[in-house]
Amino acid sequence: MPVALQAYSDLKKEIAESNVTLVAVSKTKPASDIEEMFQLGQLDFGENYVQELVEKQGALPTAIRWHFIGHLQSNKVKYIAPFVYLIHGVDSLKLLQEIQKQALKNDRTIKVLLQMHIATEETKFGLDQQELESLLQNLSAQPLPNVEICGMMGMASFSEDQGLVRKEFANLRQMFETIKLRSIPGVSMEILSMGMSADYKIAIEEGATMIRIGSMLFGSRTYA
Ligand SMILES: *Cc1c(COP(=O)(O)O)cnc(C)c1O
Repeated sequence: MPVALQAYSDLKKEIAESNVTLVAVSKTKPASDIEEMFQLGQLDFGENYVQELVEKQGALPTAIRWHFIGHLQSNKVKYIAPFVYLIHGVDSLKLLQEIQKQALKNDRTIKVLLQMHIATEETKFGLDQQELESLLQNLSAQPLPNVEICGMMGMASFSEDQGLVRKEFANLRQMFETIKLRSIPGVSMEILSMGMSADYKIAIEEGATMIRIGSMLFGSRTYA
């Protein structure tokens, strides 16, 4: 299926008045699809798999801002550390420490989002409130100078129940605002990444500043 150019321009118009950044999620899609959307002015692209991201990054314009939105294993941070723009799914101190190590090696600062577990499903990754607290406590004891924690990310339940989805996004927004008010050094809380093709409208209503949209722009995915 070709890139849905009409959907892209409609979506750009829809979010133009808000302060929402669109991340076009291009996982499993060919580099030519990304190139096509890049030509329209889209700079932010999201990928879930390290090897796929590294291959695409090598083949596409350096002006692209690559977002890693999947579950990142510590032993793979080194492959994306030289170029990644924002890592959305950070949910452990171990991973943060590895990002610090690799950022330092590459003489740069890497921006990350803390992934919170907001869905009712067990399978989704992310921190609960207690884990967040202990992570923040650990951070105040040993700051990570090459890591910038600049917000939170979450995925709502995969559900038809819009009320439930809204409640989960509202919950994430609440945690985001609470942490923001605490003004923790190295933790800025400027980006709230929530909302995908099926639920981005609700996410924006509940305060998302960044949405991650895949199938609506690139068509449905088929996994090998
Ligand atoms: C795949 C993916 C998306 C995009 O999902 P669509 O439903 O295709 O818009 C967004 N966020 C994450 C974390 C994803 O894995």
